[in-house]
Amino acid sequence: MNNTWYDDTVYSEFKGKHDLINDLKCDVLIVGGGLAGLSLLYNLKKNNVDAVLIEEKQIGSGASGRNGGFCLSGWAQDYDVLMKYLSQEEVITLEKIAASGVQWMKKKCLSKGYEHTNLQSGVLKCFLSNNVEKVKRDVFTQNQLFSQNEEFIDKEKLYKYVRSDKYTCGILRKDSFQFHPLNFMKALAKDCVTLGSSIFENCKFINYHRNNGKIDSIINNENRVLNIQSEKIVFATGGYGGKEIKDLKNYWLPIKTFIGVTEPMGDELQDILKKPLGFSDNRRAGNYYRVLPGNRLSWGRGISAVGSFNPLSLKKAISKEISYFFPELKNIEIDYVWTGNMAYASHYMPYVGATRIGNEDKNVFTIMGFGGHGMNTAPGAAKVLADFMLGEGNTYEVFNKFRRKWNGGLIGPYIAEMKYKYLQMQDYFDVA
Ligand SMILES: Cc1cc2nc3c(=O)[nH]c(=O)nc-3n(C[C@H](O)[C@H](O)[C@H](O)COP(=O)(O)OP(=O)(O)OC[C@H]3O[C@@H](n4cnc5c(N)ncnc54)[C@H](O)[C@@H]3O)c2cc1C
Repeated sequence: MNNTWYDDTVYSEFKGKHDLINDLKCDVLIVGGGLAGLSLLYNLKKNNVDAVLIEEKQIGSGASGRNGGFCLSGWAQDYDVLMKYLSQEEVITLEKIAASGVQWMKKKCLSKGYEHTNLQSGVLKCFLSNNVEKVKRDVFTQNQLFSQNEEFIDKEKLYKYVRSDKYTCGILRKDSFQFHPLNFMKALAKDCVTLGSSIFENCKFINYHRNNGKIDSIINNENRVLNIQSEKIVFATGGYGGKEIKDLKNYWLPIKTFIGVTEPMGDELQDILKKPLGFSDNRRAGNYYRVLPGNRLSWGRGISAVGSFNPLSLKKAISKEISYFFPELKNIEIDYVWTGNMAYASHYMPYVGATRIGNEDKNVFTIMGFGGHGMNTAPGAAKVLADFMLGEGNTYEVFNKFRRKWNGGLIGPYIAEMKYKYLQMQDYFDVA
């Protein structure tokens, strides 16, 4: 994988272990060193659980350390869709989990050891559609229902935040924020180690089998095959997992998304993005952008279930998009481009809890499938899963209210790609 801007600006005092010993024993083995796995480890370790985390590569090398750096309220799925499947009470429970994730992340970013996360408050969602009255109504309803603190911004006021002719109105999310995700991951990993956790990097989980009620996991650590025995196992493998979560392998898809970072710019950037906020648009897979230290513009775009990563054409596409929204920023050089995998289930919600539903096995858990919205939802979900594992509540059961849907097997990615193209077309006609 190529370097991200985050890799080149990382600050880390965290040192993972690479020297796994054979026949290591623990109560809980967590597989995957993204935000889901790491925040679960933190919550368990805080309560003195003997938990160990293994990561195939390095902490934060998956989506959690290479994302857009937006920590927003809500879920990957919209609340008005969730309302069709769940009771109002259940949707409020989900909102509380998501909101607790934002608060937890913010508190962490502002605490000692997390100074290099560069937290900046406020994210402005900009709308391209003409249905301004609906946006206004939705802000009012969601503020009432979920006690949120979002502000509707009309076109005239919007111009004071962002100078683009394309947007019709916006929603200012004051509780949301932007940050350096890789620095966050490294600081959290160090926090876990301070609590006494063992985090093993370069350790790939291969398979597990039962051994007298315990779980024996086969691990590949730098070409050595080793065994870890645990009472429980939790898969937090995100969009980088494979078939290891046997009971779920047919119920999710890895989806790629893309980021570019421009060359350093001059004051013209602040003439356009007038406040140091994160910005996003309302399309199904729209753009999300923000100014990084060094006055570079970070630009997120698109999703894809098939196809490969072509840096040259990605640079061109990003440059073209930037100048579509901001004609003054024509022919800007893109210094960095990268991609990352997200795990999506068809309902756009994560799998949290016992991996097998129906004939539950209370020793094999999963926490994955956060899609493009994991920076608040993964730690929110990790807290309720940890509560359950500690015998302190069943809130996580709200995630099991959705029926699991087959991912389409070998043709699943092509169906997903067609669906995405269709949504793009809908976006186009909504605006036209
Ligand atoms: C480019 C991009 C931009 C995004 N922007 C945003 C954003 O701005 N805001 C937001 O909220 N969300 C965003 N997301 C989504 C968000 O990053 C994810 O939802 C979140 O990071 C998922 O966390 P995770 O821990 O589930 O997965 P990951 O962070 O991907 O972690 C999974 C880890 O498991 C490891 N692993 C996999 N298989 C094995 C194995 N067999 N053995 C050991 N380890 C294994 C992987 O190496 C990986 O490190 C973005 C995602 C991408 C890719």
